[in-house]
Amino acid sequence: PSDIDSTPPVTTSYWKHNHPPPLGRRANATILILARNSELAGVISSVKQLEDRWNKNFHYPYVFLNDEPFDANFKRRVKELTDSQVEFGLIPLPDWVQPDWIDESIASKNREHLVKQGVIYGGSVSYRNMCRFNSGFFYRHELLTKYQFYWRVEPDVTYYCDIDYDPFLVMQDQDKLYGFTIALTEWKKTIPTLWKSVKEFTREYPQYVSPHNAVDFISDDGGYSYNTCHFWSNFEIANMDLWRGEAYTKFFDFLDKKGGFYYERWGDAPVHSIAVSLFARRDQIHYFSDIGYKHEYFSNCPQGEQHRRGKCWCDSKSSYQLKNGALQITSCLARYEDLFK
Ligand code: GDP
Ligand code: MN
Repeated sequence: PSDIDSTPPVTTSYWKHNHPPPLGRRANATILILARNSELAGVISSVKQLEDRWNKNFHYPYVFLNDEPFDANFKRRVKELTDSQVEFGLIPLPDWVQPDWIDESIASKNREHLVKQGVIYGGSVSYRNMCRFNSGFFYRHELLTKYQFYWRVEPDVTYYCDIDYDPFLVMQDQDKLYGFTIALTEWKKTIPTLWKSVKEFTREYPQYVSPHNAVDFISDDGGYSYNTCHFWSNFEIANMDLWRGEAYTKFFDFLDKKGGFYYERWGDAPVHSIAVSLFARRDQIHYFSDIGYKHEYFSNCPQGEQHRRGKCWCDSKSSYQLKNGALQITSCLARYEDLFK
């Protein structure tokens, strides 16, 4: 973690000649971006949109994380985009490596098998490192520990609408733990034994399961099997108390020891979604229906009055959440809305 750069942000002419605008009530929150140096163009595109649509009026700070040091050009180009504080951090090696209790001969055979079955990232170890990091480590990084909430942003995403309020304060004031925009199904081939492990965990630690849980979102049969519904984690606005608490800490360690991040290809999205559906109260999950958002293949486009209020430039009718079937992946939004209305 020697790659921390806390130099003040590039100031715009406004800030050079004026004091920063007075800020209203704020949450203890950051925008979090995990990225590689090679993704600079996509990062710039995402950050520019988020600033223009929202953060230029709210000035939340940024934390960038990488398993390699960010280069000078990356830092310079990013800092030009915002008046907010920007910090760049290096991920400690143990948080981004296949653990030594994984049997590499089994792991590599399983990777080959997934590649043959055409599973995206089936053969990639670095993708698995990323999924494991996003499941169990980012919220412990030294640049994150001072914050309670984060908004996860990825390179090359699209924000379609103006956001004229502070989503972090919605989370804080309404006691929400997890906010999403897109909910869909997962490829079963990436998580064949995940649910079995989850059931083992809840049998061993029934005290962590909330009496007001949302298991009906992730299971059609009362918890016997997993329907693969999950919140798409490339967008998350969440309270890290959830990940830092006892239930999730034990849960992550339990899953990590099972080895499924490497023997299979468990994603951080199903892991997060299962955890929040079981350990939180169901009213602590929030659908940001008014945030127009797209990550390759799928989008959330606000409808009706929300579309007008946000001056959105997506077509409401094109919101993937209304359709089904792309890439054998289906929306779980209708199910969510049925259950949570
Ligand atoms: P996808 O959305 O599942 O297709 O996966 P992505 O390639 O978008 O990766 C998810 C997030 O992790 C993005 O923010 C990437 O920039 C980041 N990421 C993925 N692999 C790496 C990696 O090897 N190093 C770093 N630093 N970031 C990565
Ligand atoms: Mn992505």
